[in-house]
Formats: sequence, structure tokens, C-alpha cells
Amino acid sequence: MLLARGVVATPAFMPVGTLGTVKSLTPEELQELGADIILGNIYHLYLRPGVEVIAALGGLHRFMNWDGPILTDSGGYQIFSLAPFRTITEEGVTFRSHLDGSQHFLDPEKVVALQEAIGVDIAICLDECPGYPAPEAEVHQAAARTLRWAQRSLKARRREETALFAVVQGGMISTLRKEQAQAFRELDFDGYALGGLSVGEEKDLTLAMVEATTPELPQDKPRYLMGVGTPEDLVEGVARGVDLFDCVLPTRNGRNGMAFTSFGRVVIKNAAHTQDPRPLDEACGCYTCRHYSRAYLRHLFISRELLAYRLFTLHNLYYYLDLMTRMRQAAAQGRFADFRREFYQNRLEGGNSSG
Ligand SMILES: [Zn+2]
Repeated sequence: MLLARGVVATPAFMPVGTLGTVKSLTPEELQELGADIILGNIYHLYLRPGVEVIAALGGLHRFMNWDGPILTDSGGYQIFSLAPFRTITEEGVTFRSHLDGSQHFLDPEKVVALQEAIGVDIAICLDECPGYPAPEAEVHQAAARTLRWAQRSLKARRREETALFAVVQGGMISTLRKEQAQAFRELDFDGYALGGLSVGEEKDLTLAMVEATTPELPQDKPRYLMGVGTPEDLVEGVARGVDLFDCVLPTRNGRNGMAFTSFGRVVIKNAAHTQDPRPLDEACGCYTCRHYSRAYLRHLFISRELLAYRLFTLHNLYYYLDLMTRMRQAAAQGRFADFRREFYQNRLEGGNSSG
């Protein structure tokens, strides 16, 4: 994927830095972990500290000291999930801030302008994310409005260095997802995001929606599956043509003492780890696994020591980014099917969890 700040090898995983920080890590650590691109959220940054503050400090890259590409989510999902008292019209969305109750109005044009103002590399169009489950008529209406808003977003573009991705909606209706994708591919976006998934539906349904969408989108432009991301989801997403992922799981679950490993998940608070001298994952080369035992990590976590959050975040992001590297290599060598089989085999042999 070619961006103004360079090439990002795909498929790629974007660590989540909603507020302009990947919680507990420095940008240098993210680079060492192999992160090529990170994600922020314009809804959150607009509310705090404010786009004018970030712009006055030289843009988001300089503000947070990250030189690599940044994608910002438009905040469509956050407005519909976090903000109380939202009102949606054809013009845009009026909502109250979840921080202080202040009233705001955002429309597709302003959402593009805000992202351009802080100089991100990839901006996302404002979309309407229907709830789940939702009446079919509502899902159709939201999808149609998302398409009209995307057309307005395209016209609102001013900054060439900021790529613009559209969001394809369609709820859990595969025929609608397919139709929407076909309509969107006629528009000249730099990439296409699949939105409104992993909102409480069964895993098979998520994958069925991905399958209905990706083949209809241009093969030469990035396809981004928003907010979906267990390690299994990443493997299955790549198998279905997804190029970009983001998810809070490695960072958020890490802070809750859960490690993703090559053989399944490790829940560190479990008593079985009290005197365990082994690292989280013997196959892992991360800083945490090279230096610390499960016993020590459990001690830190139980004692609520700040280092625990950092060490788990470092391990989980290393695991995710390394998984993406291995998938890229396998795909380049034409052995992705073997890779996928081994991925599940390791989990079976590891009992899928160390408890
Ligand atoms: Zn590790």
C-alpha cells in the first residue's frame, strides 16, 4: 500500500492509538515491534485535545512523535456507540460529547476536513453504523446514507497527501453488502473499509459478510476490516482478501493480563502460573518473553504494577505484528494454505489455552 509517507507491506495490522498514543508504549517501541502504521480516532481527538490544538502543534505526527503513517477512524462507530442523544439527519450527526455533554454537529465534509487538518495519511469517511440487531429497513437506510455521505466526502477532499477510504456498510445482509461494494467500487476512493462488523454477531456471520464484500471491491486497492481482530480473525480475514486490520484486543486484553500466544491464550492471574519459570510463549522473541517468567508477570499483574501493562502490551503487539509478517511471507512463497493449517495445529497441540 503506497502512502505519502512510504510503502506499508500488506496485509498489515495497525496498533490502536485512539487518543494519539498506543497505551503505555513509546513510538520507538512501536517501531521496534515492527509497526508500520498505527490508528487514531478523529472523534476522540476532536473532543480532546481538539483538532486546533493538534494542528497548532504541527499535526498529529509531530504532536505524538510518530513519523510513520497514521490512519484515523472517522468516529462514525464511536458517535453511534458512545455519544448519548445523537440525532442523525441527511445533513449529518448532532450528538453530545461523552466527556462533558457539550453539543456538537459533524457532517461528512467536516469529518474529512478535521482529518486533513491534523495531517493523517489515511482518512475515513463518516458512515452510519446501524445497531445490531437492527430492523432490515434501518440497515438498508443506513447503508444508502453511508454511500451518499461517501460521495460528499470525496467532493470535500482538499489535501492530496491524505488518502481517503470509504466505509462499506450493509449490516448482516450479504446481498446488501455485495450491492454496496459494487456501488462503492465505481467511486474513486484510495481504499475501502468494511464497517459494522464484530458488533456482537456470531463469528461465522462476520466471515460470511467479509466473503460477500471483498471480491466485489477493487483488487488493486487496500481492503480494511475495521475493528475485527482475534489472531484467528486475522488469519481468516487474510484468507478472504483483507489487507488491513485494527483491533483493541492485543492492547486492551494485554492490560487485563491476557497474552495471545502461538498455542492459544494465557490468562496470567490463574494460580497455575504462580511458580511457572517459563516465558508467556517459548516460541516468542519479544522483550517480555526474553526476560521474564510467567511467575514474575503474574506477580506484577496481581500487584497492579505499571510494568505489567507495558510488558503484556509489548508481547501481544509483537505476537500480532509477527503473525502478520509470517502471513505475508507465507503468501509471497505461495504457502498460505500450509501456514493456515499449521496455525490451527499449534493451537490444538497447545490445548488452545494454558489456563
Ligand atoms: Zn513474547
